[in-house]
Amino acid sequence: MPKAQETILEIDLKALKHNFEYLKSKLNNGTNFLAVVKAFAYGNDAEEIARYLQDLDIDYFAVAYANEGAALRKAGVTKPILVLHTLATNFDVILDNCLEPNLYNAKILDEFIAFAEAENQKEYPVHIKFNTGLNRLGFWETDVAYVVSKLIASKAIKVKSLFSHLAASEDLSERDFTLAQIERFKIISRNFSKALGYEPLLHMSNTSGVLNYPEAHFDMVRCGIGLYGYGNAQKESANLKPIASLKTIISQIHKIEKGESVGYNRAFKSEALFTKTATLPIGHADGISRIYGNGKGFVTINGKQAPIIGNVCMDMIMVNVTDIDCEEGDEVIVFNGNTTSAETLAEGAGTISYELITGISQRVKRVVLK
Ligand SMILES: *Cc1c(COP(=O)(O)O)cnc(C)c1O
Repeated sequence: MPKAQETILEIDLKALKHNFEYLKSKLNNGTNFLAVVKAFAYGNDAEEIARYLQDLDIDYFAVAYANEGAALRKAGVTKPILVLHTLATNFDVILDNCLEPNLYNAKILDEFIAFAEAENQKEYPVHIKFNTGLNRLGFWETDVAYVVSKLIASKAIKVKSLFSHLAASEDLSERDFTLAQIERFKIISRNFSKALGYEPLLHMSNTSGVLNYPEAHFDMVRCGIGLYGYGNAQKESANLKPIASLKTIISQIHKIEKGESVGYNRAFKSEALFTKTATLPIGHADGISRIYGNGKGFVTINGKQAPIIGNVCMDMIMVNVTDIDCEEGDEVIVFNGNTTSAETLAEGAGTISYELITGISQRVKRVVLK
């Protein structure tokens, strides 16, 4: 692999295949697999990733917002695409791109039915979400009869799936709560299907649901973070391979003396007689937020960790390389699958892998290894 000459996010499709196959191995035969590719496939490259997973015969995709689904259609994705967060202003985009809306409350349900009827649709596929404890989006358990009455009154739409979302599937101390969510979903789906007269697909598990709650796999699972190589726990992550490596280079090295400072607001002051610093072409505009500054985050240069010193700038960070044999132009690893995972780096700064990887901005060049 050639060394990085600028900041790049290198994406390894072989690792993606490994993660897909590993997660699939946890499912019963016949359980459908939906890949969650919202937010540029968690900051990676939604188009490349979706096309690759489509070739691996994935069953379904999900995005958060309609425009993300439209971009996938443009890139040649033909599998069904669920829009998790439907907004009425996006109905046209949904219909024009054959996207499948999640209908989660009475307002969006009524509005979409009226829209589909006005557009002369027949059995347009929709998904109905129930809230079982996350209290974010979804109808309530007590809404079943109301929702079904609306659904059977219109020929313009047809329910493809019924789903819910777990609030704490990665947190084993919340096991009782999660089991109660699963039970609630079972009751809702039983009542729903009986009243509706046919059986839509049922799904409620994200990655940690797949790994920790086999009783919650139902007819389909919805995996995001696991596909990208993180399992929300060391034990689970050990079986997965991070697909992305964030790399950069050393632009300049400085040697500063005791009492001299580095960066804005003089946040780092050398206490040592002599400090060697390296300036790197990556900053908060690239997704390395200020929480990684002042020693909370680090990079790896020639196999050794170099802490970020001072405040993270918009386009640069400075790291302490006093004890590292390195020179201008050397490659720098921010995170990857071997040296430092994004999960470890994020935890050191008090956040989670999801936030770090989805935050890598579009300024950073994506390089896909096939
Ligand atoms: C983002 C999302 C997922 C994927 O969750 P992971 O923890 O990344 O696997 C699944 N379902 C819904 C509703 C989501 O919003």
